[in-house]
Amino acid sequence: MQFDIATPQRILFGPGRAREVPALAAQFGGRVFLVTGEFELPGLDMALALEAGGLEVVRFAVKDEPSIPLIADGVERARGAGCDVVVGLGGGSVIDAGKAVSALLTNGGELFAYLEVVGQGRPLVNTAAPYVAVPTTAGTGSEVTRNSVIASPEHRVKASLRSPLMIPRVAVVDPDLTCSVPPEVTASTGMDALTQLIEPFVCARANPMTDALCREGIRRAARSLPRAYADGRDRGAREDMAVASLFGGIALANAGLGAVHGFAAPIGGMFRAPHGAVCARLLPFVFEVNIRALARRGASADALRRFDEAAALLTGDQSAAAHDGIQWLYRLLGDLCVAPLSRFGLVSADVPSVVAHARKASSMKANPIELTDEELTEILTRAI
Ligand code: NAD
Repeated sequence: MQFDIATPQRILFGPGRAREVPALAAQFGGRVFLVTGEFELPGLDMALALEAGGLEVVRFAVKDEPSIPLIADGVERARGAGCDVVVGLGGGSVIDAGKAVSALLTNGGELFAYLEVVGQGRPLVNTAAPYVAVPTTAGTGSEVTRNSVIASPEHRVKASLRSPLMIPRVAVVDPDLTCSVPPEVTASTGMDALTQLIEPFVCARANPMTDALCREGIRRAARSLPRAYADGRDRGAREDMAVASLFGGIALANAGLGAVHGFAAPIGGMFRAPHGAVCARLLPFVFEVNIRALARRGASADALRRFDEAAALLTGDQSAAAHDGIQWLYRLLGDLCVAPLSRFGLVSADVPSVVAHARKASSMKANPIELTDEELTEILTRAI
């Protein structure tokens, strides 16, 4: 057995811990590049808090999922202002934007040189500038991952900037920050978290440490996602989802993902569709087709047992089998009102090109079994 775990130097978890960010940032520098979303967080003005802590603040707002031009703009502003520490406060879009800026602050040249798939994929050489990542959604786990997902509008694809050198220095996970997330976003981000726990658990590169995190995370997400969706102020449910998201991030960064994320990369680049909503819709179909493919092609009993165990964790029933997990996931999609992919403009004519791109996506390589074009086509057609 071999595995390799990389995480931030510190992970601070708990309600109210966002108040510690100014002191943490001050350990790394005096001029903060503060990346935020365009929404207001009740009771927290991070720019004011940083200034009150004696720091200079340069603000940068991120409206959508990050793109190459947005990152280029951010790097130019951060460099121009001489920022020496980056703080990201927002959903995965904001956290990823801050992560890419922190990486490029210490590694010269253009983003394109380092970008996977559409760029030159050159490795980063220098450790990223100190980055304090503070998520406000419970979904991506990006505060602990080594990649930043960036859209290339020109290529109509999303690709990652990826290196262990860009893992945030500190992750501050304060579940209270997620209480203002509206139900639809709670559903899509929460399903992203659940997917990022199930895919690493059944994937080809699972290891005992990520398994332990996945078991705990799946249990918590399964019991609390419907509650957080029904009542955003349910702090217990928000706390469970924040744990699930954090554990999913560590798991995906240190094991791998699978076909759901293999599809999500091209779909997110070709259509205006929130990442979590795409993952949510694909998850049960991928789960079902993977089980069938493993059974048909004589996979090891261990690979199939993992799906049974995932089903037991989801349903809370120790005697559950993989099939019960599929039914549970279909029901959850209905309860959370997850829309079919046609809502984002996907039609049957798009299937061949999405399948061709998905096959090349880095996440697809960790899927528990290599799926055929027919199987990938079936998944996507059913999800549309
Ligand atoms: P998001 O960051 O795009 O946020 C979704 C919406 O919620 C936005 O409108 C945002 O303004 C709003 N929002 C965020 N926090 C809020 C709050 N507390 N209160 C009210 N509104 C709030 O969505 P996301 O799902 O968190 O992130 C998606 C991005 O993350 C995608 O680009 C995806 O590709 C990427 N991603 C990255 C990783 C990684 O490891 N780097 C993993 C998965 C996904």
